[in-house]
Amino acid sequence: MQKPTLVVPLRPRSGAVCAQTPLPAPYGLTWAQQAGRACVVCGQQLTTGAVSRGWIYGKHGAHRLDVEVWCCPKPEGS
Ligand SMILES: [Zn+2]
Repeated sequence: MQKPTLVVPLRPRSGAVCAQTPLPAPYGLTWAQQAGRACVVCGQQLTTGAVSRGWIYGKHGAHRLDVEVWCCPKPEGS
């Protein structure tokens, strides 16, 4: 059983959207973020229109931390 970790969501700068925010390190992502169910940037639960951000590669000792991540859809008109 994995211990849940409290993560302070990274807030994109004012005017920026999650889809344009650089990806965080794979360490400390929530289960939902690693499962692709929450935005990797702001941590909001994703519904439809999520944008694939590809993979983040990481290593923790012998454990691989490669995760496929998603983020919020781009706002309309951008
Ligand atoms: Zn987001």
